[in-house]
Amino acid sequence: VAIDLITRKEWGARAPKGSYTTLRSTQGVKVHYTGSKEKLEMADDHDLCVSRVRSIQNSHMDGNGWTDIGYNLLVCSHRSVFVGRGGKHLPAANGPGLNSGHYAVCGLVGNSGLVVPSDDMLLGILDAIAYLRQTAGAGTQIKGHRDGYATDCPGTRLYQWVKDGCPKPSGGTPQPPKPQPSAPDWPGRYFEFESGADMVHGTDVEKWQRQMKARGWHLVVDGWYGPNSAGACRAMQGNLDLWEDGIVGPVTWRATWVAPIA
Ligand SMILES: [Zn+2]
Ligand SMILES: [Zn+2]
Repeated sequence: VAIDLITRKEWGARAPKGSYTTLRSTQGVKVHYTGSKEKLEMADDHDLCVSRVRSIQNSHMDGNGWTDIGYNLLVCSHRSVFVGRGGKHLPAANGPGLNSGHYAVCGLVGNSGLVVPSDDMLLGILDAIAYLRQTAGAGTQIKGHRDGYATDCPGTRLYQWVKDGCPKPSGGTPQPPKPQPSAPDWPGRYFEFESGADMVHGTDVEKWQRQMKARGWHLVVDGWYGPNSAGACRAMQGNLDLWEDGIVGPVTWRATWVAPIA
């Protein structure tokens, strides 16, 4: 599953007030929650997640006087991962002296209202951790904000999950299957050009020619399988490492639709 990363531009982030301190690696990640009352409606309305991330940034910059939002990444109930400071940047949310040790990932649940992290949120936090490991040198530790700092963060539920070793939830919204490329049924006859013989002609030929043309091959879409079509067929077969016989049979027919365009 690819991470559903929401860029700063996409969530409408303000520019940071200064430059970030670069981190090349950390021991791991600390998990946070907002520690505030969160609207229950946020579980059903992703627009509220986006505006909540903006308001957290405002309070961190204007209230706390921080350079930027304090977290590296934030995760909502819908498995979206918002880029806060992003990877390789010193967070501000772990507490004094504790920021270079771990990246900070915040789940958008609070201490009242919306308090239960959805399975999609837990999956999103795992996505965020994997992303920080792959791109920003995050080590294997996963801890809660309260580990090493006097706070109730990340709240009862998220902290229990961390203590349990961050098990991958079995639920969550199933990811829609990737659409498989498909080809129309082979018309059941071979298109072959032989000089001196009658040319194959029909709407099936035309259909194949139209698809070839759509994929960038130069040929005339006229429904006649002539030397021009056979030449394009041979070129495509060569391109796809198929047998270059210039004949459209079931394999070449199907490849005309499903083979990746080189
Ligand atoms: Zn925290
Ligand atoms: Zn959301």
